[in-house]
Amino acid sequence: MTTSKTALVTGITGQDGSYLADLLVSKGYRVVGLARRSTNYDYPNIRQLIGKITLEYGDLMDSDCLNNLVSKYQPDEVYNIAAQSVPADSWTQPIVTAEITGVGTVRMLEAVRRHKPDARYYQATSREIFGGIEQEVCDENTSFLANNPYGIAKQYAHLMTMNYRESYGMFACGGILFNHESERRSLHFVTRKVTMAAACIKLNVKHPPLNEVGESLVQDGKLKIGNLDAVRDWGYAKEYVEAMWLMLQADQPRDYVIATNTAFTVRDLCRVAFNQAGLNWEDHVVSDQRFHRPTEIAASRGDYSRAKNDLGWEPRTSFEQLIRLMVDADLKLLSERR
Ligand code: NAP
Repeated sequence: MTTSKTALVTGITGQDGSYLADLLVSKGYRVVGLARRSTNYDYPNIRQLIGKITLEYGDLMDSDCLNNLVSKYQPDEVYNIAAQSVPADSWTQPIVTAEITGVGTVRMLEAVRRHKPDARYYQATSREIFGGIEQEVCDENTSFLANNPYGIAKQYAHLMTMNYRESYGMFACGGILFNHESERRSLHFVTRKVTMAAACIKLNVKHPPLNEVGESLVQDGKLKIGNLDAVRDWGYAKEYVEAMWLMLQADQPRDYVIATNTAFTVRDLCRVAFNQAGLNWEDHVVSDQRFHRPTEIAASRGDYSRAKNDLGWEPRTSFEQLIRLMVDADLKLLSERR
């Protein structure tokens, strides 16, 4: 399929932005990606896209750069994927989280409203906007009860996206995505920590990557993580970016829950991952109070019926398949580095 459309993607160096850019390039889009100024110019998630996309440097903190970007490229579709995306870090960096994840959304919406108001706009919001809601299954009509600084910033972003749709008639959609993972997931997140640790232990890696407190991810054959009883609805990121694109091809702008409607514990995650590496998780995983969240979100699953009915979207990869493919990818990555 080819198109003459231009898409602007923020957060292109991250998990979702890079998969979305892969998808858009495969569909013939001209893709402009916003990358943050960084000391390190190596972007592993988009190496395969170099030469196929246009990279621009900028920041969601900087209105001028967003205005210039939208004015210069006149995108048909804007995917605002960038964020301070780590809920756990939002307690130690609440102001930065509010500035990037919350107000950054409004900076982007304003740039679109001023310079390309007919562009179709996708906003990455999150399951975290439901926070501690005691409901087994959440959908688009569930109340927003965010209970951490990240979730609260996303709730603001979500409401502002709705507000720009209602106030200005913009084609703006909020994607209420439940957790989604892949081999491109950053090590800030428990799934990737577990799959990487399982691979490091299996291959007896001498210098494992660092964890978020600057310690070796694996010490004496042990991985330290937070609450083993935490429950999440985990899907495959590569499939979730298809839903983002589909939302912007629909007849009407709407908000959508994207999820699998299944739920597993961190304990399940450890069992599947270590088993895939031929190890017993109970010999290697320790729950450490330092990695527990001050407030935990509830054990809800996402009902994706609206996405299925309107967009024809549904998840294809099971939780076990997802974790297995992540372990296999980490084993391959570490083997190639040897
Ligand atoms: P990710 O891998 O952490 O990517 C985040 C991206 O945002 C990175 O490219 C990052 O750039 C960029 N970024 C951060 N601060 C920025 C700033 N001030 N200006 C410009 N760019 C900035 O996250 P992800 O998993 O792909 O998630 C994508 C989006 O979905 C995020 O908004 C996240 O909050 C949301 N979300 C994710 C999940 C999930 O389970 N993955 C679930 C619900 C919602 P650097 O590479 O420079 O850090």
